[in-house]
Amino acid sequence: MPLDQFWHLTSPASATRYAEWDDDMDIEQVVCPIDDGHRRGGKRLSNLSIVLQNRKVHDFEWTWHNECLIQDHVLELFQRFGITGFDVKPVNTRLKHSSEHKPPKLWELVVTGWAGMTPPESGIKLVKHCQGCGFLTYSGCEDTEKLIDVSQWDGNDFFMVWPLPGFIFVTNRVAQIIHDNGLTGSALKRPKELSLSGGFSPGRLSYWMPHERARRLGTALGIY
Ligand SMILES: [Zn+2]
Repeated sequence: MPLDQFWHLTSPASATRYAEWDDDMDIEQVVCPIDDGHRRGGKRLSNLSIVLQNRKVHDFEWTWHNECLIQDHVLELFQRFGITGFDVKPVNTRLKHSSEHKPPKLWELVVTGWAGMTPPESGIKLVKHCQGCGFLTYSGCEDTEKLIDVSQWDGNDFFMVWPLPGFIFVTNRVAQIIHDNGLTGSALKRPKELSLSGGFSPGRLSYWMPHERARRLGTALGIY
């Protein structure tokens, strides 16, 4: 099956808009018993709480951590068209420069669809798996045309591949809805246009997916 049925859904190149995390976010702190350099923020323990930079809120908004936020009517569109492969979590939202105006309701889009591991032909390889804390390091991608192995794709409209859980991949169905409804605040690129030579430290799958889903998909792969 050709890869031109998939897109990478991302933020437009406008970092000035990115929403910041608010002060009340609760993040798990991971401390490694073997390597102090592995100390890091792990799983987010609270729902997102964000500060929006602009009063004009787009249909899609993005945080500095690349979390994807959608407005209520976008969620309704996806539901109406039977789009699959995501959950939503409520977002606590405020505007940076105005306490009087209340921003529209936003949802965090959490990807639950899955296309497994990037195949070896992509060039991405596991470089390090720390036995102390589960820290995973992978080499960069050498061939982005081989990033997605369609035989591992579960058929969901939203999906991720490992070790790139922060990259949202979508089907043409999603791209069509965004296009037909003129939804603002997102960009669609072909996976092969991605520049991914730098390597990855994605954390664990349980940071990214609902607990039970991550356990089921990730345990046998050693990434849960
Ligand atoms: Zn470690």
